[in-house]
Amino acid sequence: MAFPAQPTLIVPAEAEAYCVKCKATHKVVQGEVVTVKNGKLALKGKCEVCGTTMMKFLPQKKQALPAEAATSSADSPEPSL
Ligand SMILES: [Zn+2]
Repeated sequence: MAFPAQPTLIVPAEAEAYCVKCKATHKVVQGEVVTVKNGKLALKGKCEVCGTTMMKFLPQKKQALPAEAATSSADSPEPSL
């Protein structure tokens, strides 16, 4: 498996994800940021407790989803042009 020489993405030091085996949210160890088929970023790592591989989709700052924009605008309404 080939890894990129210069990873530009920073893996969160203490990321948490849902473990399907533990059926609970646990800390991700040995995490790395990967790009899935649809081009989204995801954090791939292992469950701290049981070692099961976990994946957690990361928020993409480049393109804000309409749903998220609507939610944030509800908290701090901005005048629309
Ligand atoms: Zn687990």
